[in-house]
Amino acid sequence: MSTPVEKIKERLDIVDIIGSYIKLEKAGVNYRSRCPFHNEKTPSFFVSPSRQSYHCFGCDRGGDIISFVQEIEGLDFKGALELLADKAGINLVYKNSKEISEVAKLTKILEIALKFYQQKLKINDQAIKYLLQRGLKKETIENFSLGYAPLEWRSLTNHLIDAGFSLADAEKIGLVIKNDKRGDISFYDRFRGRLMFPLFDCNGKIVGFSGRIYDDEKNRTTEGKYINS
Ligand SMILES: [Zn+2]
Repeated sequence: MSTPVEKIKERLDIVDIIGSYIKLEKAGVNYRSRCPFHNEKTPSFFVSPSRQSYHCFGCDRGGDIISFVQEIEGLDFKGALELLADKAGINLVYKNSKEISEVAKLTKILEIALKFYQQKLKINDQAIKYLLQRGLKKETIENFSLGYAPLEWRSLTNHLIDAGFSLADAEKIGLVIKNDKRGDISFYDRFRGRLMFPLFDCNGKIVGFSGRIYDDEKNRTTEGKYINS
């Protein structure tokens, strides 16, 4: 399995990250800007998408996505890693992970699922059209963080594995279902082909989902119109 640093670099593009702090302009195969780390009038700060690195010819600062975030946010390596892991939807596992409370851990999984379902809805024009036809406004879809669970057996399951989460934990909050075939344990998505309505507590923290049937599926007759996690 790849390390958190490798995963962060796989998932995040240095151009996007640096571009979220300063305005980059295309310069051939690279991007350039006035350096955020020293005062200058002519841009000598370059970002290379192919090497996923940056370099300033004025003050000679340079490095990768992590050192950039360290420098610009004033963070140590671990702090920058945490910030980027959060953006990338990666769970950093520390040796003292036992200290992280059970609730926080489960909430994190719900947050990852929330982003996942939202992302899946964004790329599903038909489902968006369906919601709009039913009188929902675009802002409502955004504000209530509505999502879509693909009609697949393991889309969220695989996403959670990739992000380094425990499926046993995901089962506790009802996102996946455990299949125990004579001791051969596997997991699959609980919500499939459903529009996902997240449920929040009074602090705005996600506590679960309500999934409404959207896609037609054979064998659906045995399932409820709504299922809740
Ligand atoms: Zn510089």
